[in-house]
Amino acid sequence: MSKRASVAVFVPHIGCPHRCSFCDQRAITGAQKIPHAADVVSAVERAIVCGADPKRTEIAFFGGSFTAVPRDYMIELLSAAKPYVDAGFRGIRLSTRPDAITPEILGILSDYGVSSVELGAQSMSDRVLELNGRGHTAEDIEKASELVKQFDFTLGLQMMVGLYGSTPELDRFTADRLISLRPQEARIYPTVILKDTRLAELYLSGEYKPYDLSAAISLCADLLDKFEAAGVSVIKLGLHSSREVESDMLGGLYHPAFRELCESERCRRKMEFLIGSDKSASFTVPPESLSKALGQKKSNITYFRSKGISVKIFPNPGQSEPLIKIKTEDN
Ligand code: SF4
Repeated sequence: MSKRASVAVFVPHIGCPHRCSFCDQRAITGAQKIPHAADVVSAVERAIVCGADPKRTEIAFFGGSFTAVPRDYMIELLSAAKPYVDAGFRGIRLSTRPDAITPEILGILSDYGVSSVELGAQSMSDRVLELNGRGHTAEDIEKASELVKQFDFTLGLQMMVGLYGSTPELDRFTADRLISLRPQEARIYPTVILKDTRLAELYLSGEYKPYDLSAAISLCADLLDKFEAAGVSVIKLGLHSSREVESDMLGGLYHPAFRELCESERCRRKMEFLIGSDKSASFTVPPESLSKALGQKKSNITYFRSKGISVKIFPNPGQSEPLIKIKTEDN
């Protein structure tokens, strides 16, 4: 299947009445340009000039509150995108708050050719939602998800890992509850502490202690297993690596290759299972998976060596299975 592409338009929520602990309102409302219809058109036209294939390209409105912005403004942006959907673009994707979904709003989205609705759920624990100032409940997430599915949109659910007041158990609980809402897609965002946020205050006062990075990687490897086993595609894990995040963050769960680290851990677990009690083993992987199998700086090989196990991994062009254990004379 060909890979999906998107033309992303960031829509800041100016005048947002909420105070989510992780959100840097100053950066959102100060530094971001507010896009209008002409900006949507020029972004899509630019993508066309650069060779975007309309059939696999979505126009994506990100920012997290698309249906909570003033109605006229929302329709201005949708009206600019719709002609491209009518002309063969794959659809319109947007992300919004669970409490900004009603049948009336979904009817409008449907009329304008929206195909995917992502809800910023963040947690299914009401206590965690409240502690982090989200301003909505787990029930809002359930109701909004049900409505999005009734209107036949692709449902995407976003969760955050390691929020203030959360625990790995609560994050696993969130993943299970989200899976029970039958989304087609999920995004997992490990919590990053940005300057000038409520989380930053809590962190600096010692009230909030983020998970340590290796524990978060292990947890997110479990979450990937859960979503994958349920047939939910995890379309994003970790924040995009960017200079802004790197310069604005005080701490938290950030690594420029976060997903790769989680995938490496999953691969190491599979190898460990296949190795059993052997003292040496050889595996083949598709060439594009070699670095994931070896781990960053060959960390998986080092891990096995520390346990007295010698592991060799070979790239195998044409292999479709993610990991094959080769029979050797030793095993
Ligand atoms: S993340 Fe929360 S505070 Fe920030 S814009 Fe969205 S709803 Fe408002």
